[in-house]
Amino acid sequence: MVHIRQESLSVNHLVARLFVCFLTISLFLIPSSTLAAESKTIVSSEEVVNAVEKVSPKIEEVGMKLWELSEVSLLEVESSKYLKDELKENGFKITSEGTSGVPTAFVAEFGSGKPVLGIMLEYDALPELGNEAVPHKEPRKDGVTAGHGCGHNLIGAGALGAALAIKDLMEDKKIAGTLRVYGGAAEETEGAKVYMARDGFFGDVDAMLHWHPLNAASVMNIRTAAQSQMYIEFIGRTAHAGFTPWLGRSALDAVEIFLVSVNMMREHVRPTARIHYIIKDGGVAPNIVPEKASVILTYRDASRAFVEEGVAWLKETAKGAALATQTKALAVDYYGMYDLLPNTPLAKRMQEHLEMVGLPQYTEEEIAFAKNLQKEAGVEPTGMTDKIKPLPDEPTVGGSTDVGDVSWQTPTMGVLMPAEPEGIGVHTWMATASHGTSIGVKSAVGAAKVLALAGMDILVDRAFLEQVKKDFEKRTAGFEYKSPIDAKIKEPVGLPDEMRSHGSVLDLKESFHKQAEDDQFYRTKYID
Ligand SMILES: [Zn+2]
Repeated sequence: MVHIRQESLSVNHLVARLFVCFLTISLFLIPSSTLAAESKTIVSSEEVVNAVEKVSPKIEEVGMKLWELSEVSLLEVESSKYLKDELKENGFKITSEGTSGVPTAFVAEFGSGKPVLGIMLEYDALPELGNEAVPHKEPRKDGVTAGHGCGHNLIGAGALGAALAIKDLMEDKKIAGTLRVYGGAAEETEGAKVYMARDGFFGDVDAMLHWHPLNAASVMNIRTAAQSQMYIEFIGRTAHAGFTPWLGRSALDAVEIFLVSVNMMREHVRPTARIHYIIKDGGVAPNIVPEKASVILTYRDASRAFVEEGVAWLKETAKGAALATQTKALAVDYYGMYDLLPNTPLAKRMQEHLEMVGLPQYTEEEIAFAKNLQKEAGVEPTGMTDKIKPLPDEPTVGGSTDVGDVSWQTPTMGVLMPAEPEGIGVHTWMATASHGTSIGVKSAVGAAKVLALAGMDILVDRAFLEQVKKDFEKRTAGFEYKSPIDAKIKEPVGLPDEMRSHGSVLDLKESFHKQAEDDQFYRTKYID
């Protein structure tokens, strides 16, 4: 792996920023009487930043190890084990493994009592995005075809780094409270956080922090889209397509009618809705009437309620397509997510920390790497961003995250740190390349500082935590969390059979196929 030589942040730059910040933070951290009684200590932002600097070699090691492993969602076995081992070695207790039926999810904990601060890790890679850490397209020499195109290797490393630094400070300064680390497996497919949210793993958390690499530096004061993932399958009757087509009923015909209807539906859904799909199975040969055909579809919109409306419509559409083609339909919404709920006090505080920590300083070599990558991608070779974005005003964006479900259960905020050049998007081989270099590592170290600073505020500044909680209560007044995943789904649908402990993944399909044999059979939902 080509590794760009690493240089730490310029000391002068950091000291100048720290000085400004120390004044601001001191104001916030002047102890209230409760704080003084419970915590007895005040931690300066300089001490927090230093604690992260101290663990930065570990952040690099973890980030590069996860990048090398590049394991896809639900199969991130080694990555999960590696992170758990690191946490154990550093004094954390693993309180849950295979959490909520996701074998690679986990929960770890340090300390005890209130407040409870949560930090979320991710570590799954994406299929087909493997690339050497070079500024041109080059498959990995070790044959690994998956790649960290979304930079979850850096999320794992940076969030772990923040947790280690906070834990060190809690020990040194005798700070009360619980630091809980959530191993959020499979974020790219059936993210574990939704299962954990359904099963109440965030109930006692006072505030939750997370981060994501991108090509920009910003606090995530945004709303992401809520979404549902659907599996739609049609069963017809096979026949010789030339000799006796009248004996057959094509499942592919049903898929086509279904998708034509979906595309007509587009005109009449809200402007915030997004519908995207693939045909998973469209038959085996043109001269055989397809007996089985299937579609995987994602429906997104600005809120959970809007998504549920769309899903109900799609189930009716599948029913209609089955009727028209004399086939049978199965339409299951097997996974979903909430939109991301912001928190104003947390967002504002995180913005201050982001501005204080600042952008990473890059070497000439790193800038050359970034520009070469941009040339390769056909975008303007401007290098890495040189701006921190002003605090966004809660815009809704098209993508989704399983952090959404967490954010409706506990006050949650995240930060974005530049890990790839401007104009380069995540989920590309270019991003994979960038996330395997010191550019990526610097992103993780910077994010760890912002998370550790915000985390310490939550642990020691009770007045601040009260504001955070009030904002959350106001936003969720009258709201009751209803999981997008049915309680009967014990494990992710995409989990390979050998990793299951609750029976076959095919249970769902088997019961459908069995009922499909019955001519009266007709259903659009496998759970009644
Ligand atoms: Zn991601």
